[in-house]
Amino acid sequence: MSLDKLPLDELVACHECDQLMRKPALALGEKAQCVRCGYELYAHRHNVVQRSLALVVAALLLYIPANFLPIMHLNILGQSSQDTVWTGVLGLYDSGMQGVAAVVFLCSMGIPLLKLLCQLLVLLSIQLNVGRSYGLLLYRVYHHLRDWGMLEVYLMGVLVALVKLADLASLSLGLGLACFVGLLLLQIWLEVAMSPHQIWQALSGENVHAGD
Ligand SMILES: [Zn+2]
Repeated sequence: MSLDKLPLDELVACHECDQLMRKPALALGEKAQCVRCGYELYAHRHNVVQRSLALVVAALLLYIPANFLPIMHLNILGQSSQDTVWTGVLGLYDSGMQGVAAVVFLCSMGIPLLKLLCQLLVLLSIQLNVGRSYGLLLYRVYHHLRDWGMLEVYLMGVLVALVKLADLASLSLGLGLACFVGLLLLQIWLEVAMSPHQIWQALSGENVHAGD
């Protein structure tokens, strides 16, 4: 049968090259790849919801130390200071750069927290089987927020500053930086573990093994 006669929900398009294909039925642990470019279309993973919940909770636990524990201890000519992400935002605000402070706050603290809370509520709505329509809405919000949370960019900024400062001052890295890197890695892991295909399916009511 040619593809244009199939109902839409039996078709899948490749994100990378737009190739249209018939949706393969996957067993647990299998992956579907594009026939043309080899891109992973979707995977059918075990325990998607439970695993993602564990990662979200771990990320939320790291969120506070990552933002409120010192990223570095700085010592210039006998003056020492300890800087956290939060004091960085306050420092920018106090030195008259309110706009920059707002952007740094949103990209490094506000949006990452909102993203994690959206993910938590989406997963809870699937796990507890309540309020899936809100879950669907929040999952859409999450996909919009993804473009705005820029922890990676922020981390690069910190690293560049550290390399430049290393010659000028004696500095040591703080526990906050370790938590920040941990938070970043957890979020990347979460992106991979929280298979969007299975989450969308679970939210839209076809409960196809989201809890497997
Ligand atoms: Zn492709």
